[in-house]
Amino acid sequence: MIVCKFGGTSVANAQQIKKVANIVKANPARKIIAVSAPGKRTNDDIKVTDLLIDLANSALRNVDTELKLSTVIERYADIAAELGLDDTIVQVITDDLRERLDADKSQEAQFMDSIKASGEDNNAKLIAAYFSSIGMPAKYISPKEGLIVNDLPERTFALPETYENLSKLANVEEIIVFPGFFGYTKAGVLRTFDRGGSDITGSILASAVNADLYENFTDVDCVFSANPKVVNCPVEIKEITYREMRELSYAGFSVFHDEALMPVYKQGIPVNIKNTNNPAAEGTRIVPKRPATGSPVTGIATDSGFSILYVSKYLMNREVGFGRRLLQIIEEENISYEHTPSGLDDISVIMRSHQLNDEIEARIMKRVKEELQAEDVHFRHDFSMVVIVGEGMRNNTGLAARAATAISNTGANIEMINQGSSEVSLVFGVLSQYENQILKALYEEFFAHTAV
Ligand code: ASP
Repeated sequence: MIVCKFGGTSVANAQQIKKVANIVKANPARKIIAVSAPGKRTNDDIKVTDLLIDLANSALRNVDTELKLSTVIERYADIAAELGLDDTIVQVITDDLRERLDADKSQEAQFMDSIKASGEDNNAKLIAAYFSSIGMPAKYISPKEGLIVNDLPERTFALPETYENLSKLANVEEIIVFPGFFGYTKAGVLRTFDRGGSDITGSILASAVNADLYENFTDVDCVFSANPKVVNCPVEIKEITYREMRELSYAGFSVFHDEALMPVYKQGIPVNIKNTNNPAAEGTRIVPKRPATGSPVTGIATDSGFSILYVSKYLMNREVGFGRRLLQIIEEENISYEHTPSGLDDISVIMRSHQLNDEIEARIMKRVKEELQAEDVHFRHDFSMVVIVGEGMRNNTGLAARAATAISNTGANIEMINQGSSEVSLVFGVLSQYENQILKALYEEFFAHTAV
């Protein structure tokens, strides 16, 4: 059995949904499909999810929502008309949206999640109706049927019972169309995953039914070894391990959500990233193990939006519990951190900047100074992480030196170096202004002259 996930651009309009139907029809093993909300039809179009966020914000501010609501409904109505569906499905979607908008707004986050999730929920209903109308018996199944998630305040994740609950889907006769991006708490409250979270739903489904393969359909032929918007014609990745993909998607390879790997990884289910617009292309396979290739490096990713908290205190290395108490202060601000490089008398905590503001920073600095008696405490902003990834790096000497030389040749200062203990990745912290230059230099160093 194959579980497929179709992303936003794959279901953005009627023409795309027809391609999806053809792909599903072409292989009877494709029994369960997870779908996103309609995405962008052209570069300057707006995703339905973004329209819905805007709609929810207006409703929360008590601004008139009629125009925004009709923009969303029109997106579905256009698709339904072009697919030859009658008005029934548009009425179902309209009623559903009105009901969500009329719901209690006192819990703002819950209200927002409910409106946001309607994008995938209604699209799944529409796609199931279309499949059935063309003689492909299909059934919309709601995450209410067992995709159980945790309660606030942490980020949303599926609880263990989800897998048992959803395993019964393997026995459904029809093709299952399942909306991506959300689940329900035990108390029945809808919660969405992070943006791009339909990948996670597909992975959960594949794991629950113990699929032979998870196909993730998007709008590119494969995953590239570097961002093609920065590097000209980067090498295509045919096969990559879960670990490599995890590291790359963490650092900006937006083709696959980094949280989506865990459910399939646990079961050893291979993933194939494929292109809805070119299904004949092989795509990129994500597998537990792969044979070594000519290059120790599989991919290079960069991501901006990081800040560094720098703390120094003489004889810090002798002070039992210093690191724990520092991280405790960060935890109490509900902030997650990414790296903590340290020296004898200093430590830096690297975190995503969107979690900070002036007030939070001032509070953290004051506490670190007072409670830990640190001598110097300050924040620095506008950093990027450059991540070099490859299973082959473990057995390769001199790679860090090559990377560091390539980076320093751009004139950039390396603010931090971190090598994970698995030695699958090497992370450099640099000022964001150098990010693209560094990516080009590293690509040149590791790929331009290597046969892969
Ligand atoms: N529609 C959601 C988003 O735009 C989730 C997804 O497409 O995976 O983030």
